[in-house]
Amino acid sequence: MSNMKKIIIAGPCAAESSSQIRQSIKEAKKRPVDFLRVSLWKPRTKPGFDGMGEDGIELLIEAAKEGISPSTEVIIPTHAEKVIKAVLEADNKTKVLVWIGARNQNHYIQQEIARVVAGEKRAFLMVKNQPWSSREHWEGIIEHVLHGGVSREQLILCHRGFAPTGDNPNDYRNVPDFIMAAEIKKTYGLPMIFDPSHTGGTREKVVQITNEANAHGFDGLIIEVHPDPDLALTDAKQQLNWSQFDTLLNLL
Ligand code: PEP
Ligand code: MN
Repeated sequence: MSNMKKIIIAGPCAAESSSQIRQSIKEAKKRPVDFLRVSLWKPRTKPGFDGMGEDGIELLIEAAKEGISPSTEVIIPTHAEKVIKAVLEADNKTKVLVWIGARNQNHYIQQEIARVVAGEKRAFLMVKNQPWSSREHWEGIIEHVLHGGVSREQLILCHRGFAPTGDNPNDYRNVPDFIMAAEIKKTYGLPMIFDPSHTGGTREKVVQITNEANAHGFDGLIIEVHPDPDLALTDAKQQLNWSQFDTLLNLL
């Protein structure tokens, strides 16, 4: 796996405005970014800004037309359908990635989202692990989406840590289980990327945890990068600016 090219997904936690996404497109294009993060839906712990929703599909299309493949979380199958159709029809070279977030743990919905992605050659599905630590449940998500018909070539796994319950000496936002991630990657033979943003939780810890993860054979990273992190509407503390992102990539 070590000589395989790493998958890099980078961009803001949430799409907030057209100017924010246009700046992100411009910066991402200068770098080895495989998918621009343009997340339109943002499940929140408590009600608040929860994304631009469908109004932002135009921004994913802009990215695609600029030559950078977009990616977003989707909550329900209709989101996946609308995003994939609009982006793939707007540009005949782009790819598009949708992902199922940690909080979206309804297996019926997971299967239905997988069904939407299945059969779309340029569409990819990423699944993040659930927030609580359970190997059985994590494997269940993977088996449910495969059962939904998504092909192995379309599927990417992502470790985003588990909500802290006990030992957390580094005070991470979510505690990684590198051993479990490596075992699951091996069991299913699928690419497994790492999310240093939602594990680290602060800019400093994003760097620290990327260093830690380096030894564990991940196939890439999804990183939150914002043109002006302090002004971000969500996850301001953990988003990097593009020059911090460059420094981080140099660690790999
Ligand atoms: C995210 O990637 O935007 C996110 C909210 O992460 P998670 O679903 O892992 O909590
Ligand atoms: Mn976030």
